[in-house]
Amino acid sequence: MIITCNSCGKKYKIDPAKMKKTSVTIKCKACNNPMTIEKPKPEPPPEVEFDILPDDAITEVIEDRPIFQPVSDPTPQPKPAPPPKKKSGMRIFLLLVLLLVILGGAGYYYWQFMMP
Ligand SMILES: [Zn+2]
Repeated sequence: MIITCNSCGKKYKIDPAKMKKTSVTIKCKACNNPMTIEKPKPEPPPEVEFDILPDDAITEVIEDRPIFQPVSDPTPQPKPAPPPKKKSGMRIFLLLVLLLVILGGAGYYYWQFMMP
């Protein structure tokens, strides 16, 4: 912070942090002119401009969007019915046929070569 003497124009550099009072009176060393120095105030925070919404718009936002969104959907989605297993019965039938073939073959082999 630089102040200038009103009388002689001499410039003085003053640290505002060292000023204990908001207003200090000093005398110019050159001409003994009393000068009142006011401590600069800290700059106020810049004013933030807000967009002003109409009241009906605000209520619309509140109605449409709940503030707290549920993490999971409370209503369980009905799962589609699993498709009927058509292959399981067919697989058992094929296994039975295979078993009969094996047993029949074994029986035929036994009857063909073991019988005298
Ligand atoms: Zn002066």
